[in-house]
Amino acid sequence: MSMDYIRLGRTGLMVSATSFGALPIQRISFDDAVLLVRQALHGGVNYFDTANAYTDSEEKLGMAFVGVRRESYIISTKSGATTKAGVLAHVELSLRRLRTDYVDILQLHNPNPLPDPDDPDGAYAGLLEARGRGWVRFIGVTNHGLPRAEAAVLSGKYDTLQYPFCVLASEKDEKLVQLCKERDIGFIAMKGMSGGLLTDAKAAFAYIRRFPNVVPIWGVQKASELTEFLSYAENPPPEDAETAAAIDRDRRELAGEFCRACGYCLPCPAGIDIPQCARRKYFLMRSPVPQQLTDEIRDAMLRINDCKNCRSCANKCPYGLDTPRLLRENLAYYEQFYKEHKA
Ligand code: SF4
Ligand code: SF4
Repeated sequence: MSMDYIRLGRTGLMVSATSFGALPIQRISFDDAVLLVRQALHGGVNYFDTANAYTDSEEKLGMAFVGVRRESYIISTKSGATTKAGVLAHVELSLRRLRTDYVDILQLHNPNPLPDPDDPDGAYAGLLEARGRGWVRFIGVTNHGLPRAEAAVLSGKYDTLQYPFCVLASEKDEKLVQLCKERDIGFIAMKGMSGGLLTDAKAAFAYIRRFPNVVPIWGVQKASELTEFLSYAENPPPEDAETAAAIDRDRRELAGEFCRACGYCLPCPAGIDIPQCARRKYFLMRSPVPQQLTDEIRDAMLRINDCKNCRSCANKCPYGLDTPRLLRENLAYYEQFYKEHKA
């Protein structure tokens, strides 16, 4: 197996250019998760990203690493706590679940606003204390909001930034990558497949490879998905006309105002599955028709009619989407599609 390793900014950590996002392993059994992580290790992956909030993801990673030399893999996890005490309690729990006495990178999980680094009882003080105790080596932050991500990088307070970055990135997102490069901050790319919206893994992989300081953590839950990414790590897609056309097609069809499926708008008091319903139009454009016309999906879409217009979703959306409007547009598109294809 051949794998490139990338220096993760000022941490100096050399992480695999194809790394592992451990959010989706929540959805598979412990046995399958252990097999998947072992397959990744065997394929040269040495960096795994998880979070305190990802239910049993940390425990599954911990189980998979039993018997593996600790220095041979790198772990980052996250805490969504907003106080020093809360962060420290989260780290203690993460260490137990991960069966280790340190994590390499501890990230604040999408803080909004960013914490005051001078607050002695705040989350940032918790990061410093955890580092002082030797529980973590480096401190980072994740964010879905561009202004906060930029502010975090410019503050110089974090060693790494984790941010959504994929073939649909805007010019401003690309500038953020450049800013991290200039400041020597490690850039960890989440949502490389845009939460399932992108279907061309080869194009997604090729786009991210254009940015040598970006470390993608591909969220995988099946051996076949991992095998595909590992095959691109071994034989990177060439930067030829075919790859360029695939990248252009995704950008043309999907770029702009679209839901990234981050789920921060949930729960919805009307029980609407916002991340799924707000992207239905794109699924219709890209998935085989019968899968989209089931009673289950139609019921989920029709629930949009119960929207109370409380705007809680729009207020929480880190991308500033007018979520209720997006939902209504998706429902109208779906109903038209349903009429045309169900008959
Ligand atoms: S505005 Fe509608 S979709 Fe958004 S949270 Fe309120 S009820 Fe749910
Ligand atoms: S509407 Fe916004 S907050 Fe909700 S899932 Fe989509 S991108 Fe995330």
